[in-house]
Amino acid sequence: MASLLTPADRDALAAQFGARVRFDEPLGPYTWWKIGGPADALVSIETGEELAFILRLAFKRKLPWFTLGFGSNILVGDGGLRGLVLRLGGSFDALDVRADDAQVVVRAGASAQMALLTAQAASRGAVGIASLAGIPGSVGGALAMNAGTDREIGEFVREVWVQTTTKPDPHPVDIRYFYRHTTLARDAIVAGVTLAFARGDSQTIRSDMQARLVRRKATQPIHMPNAGSCFRNPPGDKAGRLIEAAGAKGWRSGGAEVSPQHANFIVNVAAARARDVTSLLARVRREVQVRFGVELQLEVHLIGEFTG
Ligand SMILES: Cc1cc2nc3c(=O)[nH]c(=O)nc-3n(C[C@H](O)[C@H](O)[C@H](O)COP(=O)(O)OP(=O)(O)OC[C@H]3O[C@@H](n4cnc5c(N)ncnc54)[C@H](O)[C@@H]3O)c2cc1C
Repeated sequence: MASLLTPADRDALAAQFGARVRFDEPLGPYTWWKIGGPADALVSIETGEELAFILRLAFKRKLPWFTLGFGSNILVGDGGLRGLVLRLGGSFDALDVRADDAQVVVRAGASAQMALLTAQAASRGAVGIASLAGIPGSVGGALAMNAGTDREIGEFVREVWVQTTTKPDPHPVDIRYFYRHTTLARDAIVAGVTLAFARGDSQTIRSDMQARLVRRKATQPIHMPNAGSCFRNPPGDKAGRLIEAAGAKGWRSGGAEVSPQHANFIVNVAAARARDVTSLLARVRREVQVRFGVELQLEVHLIGEFTG
């Protein structure tokens, strides 16, 4: 489909962001699945002021936009994405971990890496941080998804700062957290968060974390492009167990495959297209529904235009 950006929009973006705006940029390389068509514009944003500028522009010009984290939980359609894709960096990478006798407090910008955050917080003795270890992605993405395992990031949030189209300057908001989703407003971009953890023995926490990382390595196909668990666990069961019992491990569609290692993962084995992944997702869903009467819900977010 045709770009939504007029030549004047392109000029305004180029004037503000210079080489940090890329027009008609394929998004595959920015996702863990390595799949996806082009964005009209991919903009790297380094400060709160720049983010406020672009949110005002999007509002004025009625341009749709999408916040891209590290792309570890999204499938971008082969047709790409119309409008603006916003990618935070620069001052949003900030990470500050402090500890006193009782607690560990983490202040992080939205584009700080969860891997760095968990490592630093664990070494200061943050109780519960091991549950967030090994989850790829950014702090903003983790917040938006309420990422976690046996415990989720929402449990540790003390404060969240966002910027929105109607209120572009950073401001705090109250959010509620549920299994892999939150009440974060659709037009809200997480700018930064403060997390607080009780303080415990860092040695114990680090060895728990290490054990979990080893388990992940053994059970997840992390050597292949993937986006983690495709489906949410239904109440009282595991999506991976149901998919495996449906006989789906190893199913192929084009360059996509249901991982023989972990049934809830789809891996890109040979230049897969988004439509290969969606056709596998549909087949898996149908089979689990027919065999077990369970309607699986997607955990990965489908973004942009899907064709075929
Ligand atoms: C190997 C592997 C293992 C995984 N294991 C787990 C796991 O154990 N538990 C788990 O919960 N997840 C897991 N995931 C999924 C994924 O890593 C998480 O959902 C992660 O938090 C997504 O972060 P991201 O930065 O990559 O977000 P993206 O994938 O880029 O985006 C995900 C969503 O968050 C939104 N978003 C991103 N940044 C912001 C922001 N600043 N403000 C507002 N919205 C934003 C996006 O718009 C999108 O809707 C795994 C993924 C992989 C590849």
